[in-house]
Amino acid sequence: MPRVAFTTLGCKVNQFETEVMEGLFKQRGYEMVSFDQIADVYVINTCSVTHLGEKKSRQIIRRAIRLNQEAVVAVAGCYAQVSPKEIEAIEGVKVIVGTQDRHRIVDLVEQAVTSSCSVNAVTNIMKAEHFEDIPLFEAPGRTRAFLKIQEGCTNFCTYCIIPYARGPLRSRPLASISREAEKLIAAGFKEIVLTGIHLGAYGRDVEGEITLADAVRAVLDIEGLVRLRLGSLESIEISDELIALMKQDDRLCSHLHLPLQAGDNTVLKAMNRHYTLVEYQKLINNIRNQINDIAISTDIIVGFPGETPEMFNNALAFVEKMNFSRMHIFPYSRRSGTPAAEYPDQVPEEEKKRRVQLMQDLAERKAAEFQQKFLNKELTVLFEMESQKNDNIIDGLTENYIRVYASGNKGMQGKSYRVLLQKPYRDGMWGEIVD
Ligand code: SF4
Repeated sequence: MPRVAFTTLGCKVNQFETEVMEGLFKQRGYEMVSFDQIADVYVINTCSVTHLGEKKSRQIIRRAIRLNQEAVVAVAGCYAQVSPKEIEAIEGVKVIVGTQDRHRIVDLVEQAVTSSCSVNAVTNIMKAEHFEDIPLFEAPGRTRAFLKIQEGCTNFCTYCIIPYARGPLRSRPLASISREAEKLIAAGFKEIVLTGIHLGAYGRDVEGEITLADAVRAVLDIEGLVRLRLGSLESIEISDELIALMKQDDRLCSHLHLPLQAGDNTVLKAMNRHYTLVEYQKLINNIRNQINDIAISTDIIVGFPGETPEMFNNALAFVEKMNFSRMHIFPYSRRSGTPAAEYPDQVPEEEKKRRVQLMQDLAERKAAEFQQKFLNKELTVLFEMESQKNDNIIDGLTENYIRVYASGNKGMQGKSYRVLLQKPYRDGMWGEIVD
């Protein structure tokens, strides 16, 4: 039995696509092995969102080539899509497939074996018309599953390479969403996370008035679903319908990840983001007024070209007001091919580091304040199978995305319990199971 090993860099969408590709190899009789083992095929699903993502991708590609010179090394994902020539220049790479045609990956690998010459299957992503609907073959034994329902983005934020890697908007048909969600629930998953490159744009490319709320309803209609969580969304795409669904159905988790990206209007404009700070704050307040204890988390880029120290201080002041439950902070990463890469007033790396640290400190304080609100309160925690760090401690997430640790055992994993939150612990809270 031929052996195949995978490594994935980047976002939930990439992780989902790796699982789909793993299924394609399993169906063709390949054995899954871990990436540090000798394999006949190595697949690296790459990321291009930052230059670090690309650097790590190249390092892992070279490691695979060193691990087994005879192996077929196949490179997929965003970096392969935007820079196939760079990948092709790495001696030992046999197959390059970007962000589409992954359904052909096994054939392309076997073609490379028989023809003993490299295969570059990357095509013009801007011409892509349909969502690549590859059914999941086998659902790995976990508690939470990602389900990709949307592809592509046409927002062209000036710092972002993704529209060039992922192409135009494409939505997964509703029937396919129901089919895959049913499969995941039947396989024992307790939480499904809907994900996409531009999730809030779901349905915009489809005839007829289909929206993300329709996709959410399609999954909520499936018997046996315990929890449904939404991946990252643009704040301006949170519809009243979606908020109403969140209020009506407890299974739809009270957590929204709404990238802010900058805390200054001049920077937001230069990023081609389509809201002002006042508009963003109004949106968040409207959601908070309707859904108690909802968690709002966010992404923010610091050190965007032209961001002066005053503008950065505006961002700190705005974030102080917004009380995010969790923040991902990124130093601006210059992506060649994006407009911002050519902007004047690039911020020096040292200064970016200083700003990341200041924003990180603030983010940690705000996260602690958010969790503190639930001290001595009972919340439902879905304990996860994939997270056992030692025999007597289990952990999982609340609906509003607080990581909770408690005394427990393997038999409690994959199940939901009411937990009394008692104290801060690690990156979350410690609690006692009360039911
Ligand atoms: S919305 Fe902006 S940041 Fe998000 S993927 Fe699209 S272009 Fe990139």
